[in-house]
Amino acid sequence: MVTAAYLTKYFSRITIIESDDVLNDTLMKATPNEILDYRCGLENPGSIGRSGIAQIYQAHILEGEGFKIFSELFPRLYDKLFNEYNVRTYSLKNECRFTVNGTLLNQNLTEDMKWLGVDRFTLEIVLRKELCLQFGNQIEWKCKSRVTQLLVDQSLNMVKGVKYRCKENTGSSSFDMYGDFIIDCSGRNSSSTKWLKESLNLTVPTVQIHFGCGYVTYVGERYRTGNPSLDLMPVVFCTANTPDRNVGCYAVPIRTIKPTDTNSLGILSTNAVYCVNSEFSPNDSYE
Ligand SMILES: Cc1cc2nc3c(=O)[nH]c(=O)nc-3n(C[C@H](O)[C@H](O)[C@H](O)COP(=O)(O)OP(=O)(O)OC[C@H]3O[C@@H](n4cnc5c(N)ncnc54)[C@H](O)[C@@H]3O)c2cc1C
Repeated sequence: MVTAAYLTKYFSRITIIESDDVLNDTLMKATPNEILDYRCGLENPGSIGRSGIAQIYQAHILEGEGFKIFSELFPRLYDKLFNEYNVRTYSLKNECRFTVNGTLLNQNLTEDMKWLGVDRFTLEIVLRKELCLQFGNQIEWKCKSRVTQLLVDQSLNMVKGVKYRCKENTGSSSFDMYGDFIIDCSGRNSSSTKWLKESLNLTVPTVQIHFGCGYVTYVGERYRTGNPSLDLMPVVFCTANTPDRNVGCYAVPIRTIKPTDTNSLGILSTNAVYCVNSEFSPNDSYE
């Protein structure tokens, strides 16, 4: 979506081909509370049309620069998140405890950075609504449609378009779409390298890294522990430090809420315990 928003500066017509049903009413017309309910595990992503991103309920860190890019492309985004979704930003210098191997990292930052305290699921939905509102006349979505192949001109060594198929009619014929500029935004399971090899005999250099990391993630309300170095810090990170300490944990805020109890910090967080080398099996949906 960020790519599409950026390209509106340079292209008059942009088409997004997306295999999930991301414009369905359940996602697009959901109220802020309904979105939070879905995120809290009352619906699994597949049942509401969003199966394409297995990590959608996993906590995501949005680096400060990423937040700046979002704000430039979507000037109303932050106000919307703040006013309608009870999302706020946090100071990485003063409201975060980030420790690596027992060393506090963020206390001597020369420049403060903002942490956007929102879950990826909510952010994605709000971003999509903004994209449609802001650039609806330039961007066309083809949802429930899967790109299956590249259309190439072998004599020019050039990709000229893509073949895509409507997911609902499994037996249906595929469609061809040509474009002046084609970007693969299909994520970590992209087939582009395979397709480039098949169609143009082009070998894209790749490096395969074997890495195991297991998470257990859940959403919960933060309560006072009596330890000010935790209670005063809405954002808490303690990284794994293999091989000495193989378990890390974090608590990142996704909403401010009315405290339900005098001990509540009034913060709803995504909390995770993780382990490098997969000692805990991945379990994104555990709540
Ligand atoms: C457990 C986990 C934790 C992570 N934590 C972080 C983090 O903290 N911070 C961070 O910055 N990153 C994190 N990442 C990485 C981050 O999720 C990815 O880098 C990011 O999602 C990539 O964005 P994307 O838009 O390129 O692809 P995706 O978000 O994967 O989106 C790809 C889209 O393409 C669609 N699609 C796929 N194939 C096709 C096709 N053939 N035709 C049509 N549509 C298709 C999918 O439905 C999907 O909508 C994490 C990843 C995992 C797995």
